[in-house]
Amino acid sequence: MRKPMMAGNWKMNKTVAEAKELAQAIQAQVATVEAVDRVLCPPFVCLPAVQDVLANSSIAVGAQNMHWAASGAYTGEVSGEMLQGLAQYVIIGHSERRQYFGETDESVNQKVKAALAHGLIPIVCVGESLEQNEGGQTAAVVTLQVQDALDGVSAEQVQTLVIAYEPIWAIGTGKAATPQQANATCGVVRGVVAHMFDDAVAQATRVLYGGSTNDKNIADIMQQPEIDGALIGGAALKAESYCAMVQTTAQLYA
Ligand code: PEP
Repeated sequence: MRKPMMAGNWKMNKTVAEAKELAQAIQAQVATVEAVDRVLCPPFVCLPAVQDVLANSSIAVGAQNMHWAASGAYTGEVSGEMLQGLAQYVIIGHSERRQYFGETDESVNQKVKAALAHGLIPIVCVGESLEQNEGGQTAAVVTLQVQDALDGVSAEQVQTLVIAYEPIWAIGTGKAATPQQANATCGVVRGVVAHMFDDAVAQATRVLYGGSTNDKNIADIMQQPEIDGALIGGAALKAESYCAMVQTTAQLYA
């Protein structure tokens, strides 16, 4: 059985002091909920403080992005090498990075391979726009994104990484996909992995849903067989809602 994961994407929120406080509050409530993998992804500058708070716990830390090169003349960027020791996970290809910072399927693929080479676990984001959704293109768009993201990645590596299906129209809008919609597209993602590798690899690979999840809708979402967890934005910024989502998931998997 795939272990469920609740990953919080704090985006460009929280000062170092606020991040520390939030990590401490989360640590106090769900440090021992081992049935669920808990990952906190603060901004780069908060990583050392959050890593420090969580040093002796099983709550993991993730970055929100990285560059594909190990070092070099890339002003303002952070490499996988620099994240070693500060993060275990790294979100790659979030739709906000694709939308506002020109990330492409090709750069996502480069970053996925660089993350794996540096011992970081990628949380690879895919998802369609509202227009694509309404045009019935969801499966085709997501299929291409997954194929491109995983190009050149080995079967062993794919099983360690995490794929997050995040429909763009559901992110930060309060309008989550229905559990059935989310399940169907997470199933498409798993089908692509099965096609590229094999069924055993696909069954071992975790697929999360992301888009307006919260402590009210997480139970319905987590009851879907293809969904292994959530990538959480807004609801991860408050310890109460994030921890409630972790607890609800733990109860479902008990
Ligand atoms: C996200 O940022 O990945 C996300 C899913 O945000 P929200 O939960 O706020 O929709």
